[in-house]
Amino acid sequence: MSLIEDYKKHTEERAKLGVPPLPLTAQQTAELVELLKQDPIPEEEYLLDLLKNHVNPGVDDAAYVKAAFLNDIVQGKAQSKAISPVEAVRILGMMLGGYNVGPLVDALKHSDAEIAQAAADELKHTILVYDAFNDVKELMDQGNEYAKQVIESWANAEWFLNREPLPEEMKLTVFKVPGETNTDDLSPASEAFTRSDIPLHAQSMLVNRMDNPLETIKKLKERGNDLAYVGDVVGTGSSRKSGINSVQWWFGHDIPGVPNKRTGGVVIGSIIAPIFFNTAEDSGCLPIEAPVDALETGDEIVVKPYEGKILKNGEVVSEFTLKPNTLPDEMRAGGRIPLIIGKGLTNKAREALGLGHSDVFTKPEQPADSGKGYTLAQKMVGKACGMEGVRPGMYVEPVVTTVGSQDTTGPMTRDEIKELAALSFGADLVLQTFCHTAAYPKPADVELQHTLPPFWTSRGGVILKPGDGVIHSWLNRMILPDTVGTGGDSHTRFPIGISFPAGSGLVAFAAVTGMMPLNMPESVLVKFKGEMQPGITLRDLVNAIPYQAIKEGLLTVEKKGKKNVFAGRILEIEGLEDLKVEQAFELSDASAERSAAACTVKLNKEPVIEYLRSNIKLLEKMIEQGYEDKRTLQRRIDKMKAWLENPTLMERDEDAEYAAVIEIDLNEITEPIVACPNDPDDVATLSEVLADEKRPKNIDEVFVGSCMTNIGLFRALGEVLKGEGPVDTRLWVTPPTKMDQKELIEEGYYAIFGQAGARTEIPGCSLCMGNQARVRDNSVVFSTSTRNFDNRMGKGAQVYLGSSELAAVCALLGRIPSKEEYLEIVNKKITDDKKDQVYKYLNFDQIPEEILDEMMD
Ligand code: SF4
Repeated sequence: MSLIEDYKKHTEERAKLGVPPLPLTAQQTAELVELLKQDPIPEEEYLLDLLKNHVNPGVDDAAYVKAAFLNDIVQGKAQSKAISPVEAVRILGMMLGGYNVGPLVDALKHSDAEIAQAAADELKHTILVYDAFNDVKELMDQGNEYAKQVIESWANAEWFLNREPLPEEMKLTVFKVPGETNTDDLSPASEAFTRSDIPLHAQSMLVNRMDNPLETIKKLKERGNDLAYVGDVVGTGSSRKSGINSVQWWFGHDIPGVPNKRTGGVVIGSIIAPIFFNTAEDSGCLPIEAPVDALETGDEIVVKPYEGKILKNGEVVSEFTLKPNTLPDEMRAGGRIPLIIGKGLTNKAREALGLGHSDVFTKPEQPADSGKGYTLAQKMVGKACGMEGVRPGMYVEPVVTTVGSQDTTGPMTRDEIKELAALSFGADLVLQTFCHTAAYPKPADVELQHTLPPFWTSRGGVILKPGDGVIHSWLNRMILPDTVGTGGDSHTRFPIGISFPAGSGLVAFAAVTGMMPLNMPESVLVKFKGEMQPGITLRDLVNAIPYQAIKEGLLTVEKKGKKNVFAGRILEIEGLEDLKVEQAFELSDASAERSAAACTVKLNKEPVIEYLRSNIKLLEKMIEQGYEDKRTLQRRIDKMKAWLENPTLMERDEDAEYAAVIEIDLNEITEPIVACPNDPDDVATLSEVLADEKRPKNIDEVFVGSCMTNIGLFRALGEVLKGEGPVDTRLWVTPPTKMDQKELIEEGYYAIFGQAGARTEIPGCSLCMGNQARVRDNSVVFSTSTRNFDNRMGKGAQVYLGSSELAAVCALLGRIPSKEEYLEIVNKKITDDKKDQVYKYLNFDQIPEEILDEMMD
């Protein structure tokens, strides 16, 4: 069948589902190009519409074919009766950025002035140009008049000023979803496989939440107004760009030249969840927090955003303040992300022309300066912003040095990178791993494992292989002290420096631009003092933080009216400065369970120096073994070496201010503390667990693994199990990296695990996420992993979280031990003279070459 017949048939089939046809593939675009070169052209108008409006823009493979064809027309290497060279430039100008930019920049040099002028006109409103800015500037410096026009236009922010401002008033019809809507209502997880097909995925919006939502929306639209999405509480739950995509599909407007995607839309909620609010503003959907009690489905309202009023029948029924104060600019630019990118371009252009800062844009409101000292986090973020420190509540755009992405968020991040039309990463190091799907990949996971690596490395990213291990155990080995990072995995929480985990949209943005928008949170200081007691582990200190916070009334376990002093704040930990960096990560990793925005751990410089020396060797070995991208890895090695030449770490000021200070006396922690089923905040000592009849005591399964572990904890497990024979519990052992696994095999610990009857799994996340192998239904589990949410590790499973040492004792006894039993077994098995060997970390710079080669193989 021909392309025309095929696509018309496909269009009919999709119309039956109520959705437009899919955009053309690269193959179909190539066929289309051949048809457009014919003379006469069959169905010329139809084919031209396909080329203009049914090919994805940006860096899609089909966009590559389209841009190449149009470039050939511009350069006189191909002809089409339907498209003149100037028209070809105009069509290129609708492609937003990516593959169209090079041809447009080349066209500035065209000998035909009309073509060169058309190219300049199109580039003036194109902001996704990234490094091509330098090409345009170079042309300007060489005296190219058209390039000069483009730079001047960017400098004057015409890309912004030529767009419609946020209107003074909007006439809208209300579509109300009473109560709370979470992101799963808007974008159900059960339909996750359709997320990249926005119109199809939008068909599932709210269908599990209410009767006939989509029919209601269609009927309301027939009245002629745009609709406002109204709810009491909107957008709780995980960050899901797909939720906003669906809202915009039903409530927004088409984008010329961009198939199957819409922009705009208005969401009004008495409460809008912060991440959902950010995702809306990023995407150009206007979020308004205003009381909605007086609004009902079908109401015609007038929203006056600048006055902060909502009127019904001429009466003011709700009032609000438009926040942040930059929101009108964001909406005018098409979203917060285009605004930041465009402002960056304007700044660069003004710098190139020797002009000062533009006064076109609204400056973000900033809090008053208290004049006090800064916390460690405030200094780290300050450094990334070129300032001494930043105050809580400030809007800042820190340089993001390191970005992590794993395989369950990776596809969404990739789609966002495509949307940004980015062909390279601006962040210094961007890592992609395959730890969540390594053990038992589904066909879609296997496809991702094949297709994501070239996408990543072609942009200068670093890619690991399935089986290499857990993202954080690797990413931590690539970070630089006192720098800022982010990642799509909520446990991206650096043990040195600071990381603010984020949704896939922001992670892609940070990866592409090397910076991220941030409203600086307040900090909570946790200070440890005293001496660590025998048998107590770092994991007990992790659990001691919520334990102490509960004691002080700063945290409650009860969900209703829950108090959590850490929520949305930065957890800053002091008093354990001698920890190794691997150990410090146990503390920072668990800040995710506290719902903290980020975490810092104060360390002495000696462990950091030791860690970086080891990591330099690891990264050098990665280059030798063919890991990509070599240049990025080398750049990171060079930066680590530069830090080592003058190793200094930031420290907080004495008079720094915190939202709360929590002191924990190590002398008072004399027995393990565990998180009880099924809440990481529900912490109790062993004695309290045994005394509480509600708590299960017998253990069916034990899991030792996850990013909370390191090699020392597996040796500790092995020492406790040594000589005990098979255990009655089902024991799962998963080292975080392949290097840990190989070293443990070399040292004979795998033989001990085998004798214990353990099931050893491929390095990676394994049971921790519960998306692969799972524990038996309704079993009682003791786990070293991060979180014990209901049904995460297994259906109906009740999960305790605690140390590897306690996990070993639970595996041996098949039950929670008493404090005395635990201390007796652990002190007998891991004697003081063994401790240095057991708790020894992988220092790659001290491992003989041939052994390191094998480890990395
Ligand atoms: S081990 Fe668990 S917490 Fe850590 S990255 Fe994997 S799934 Fe997330």
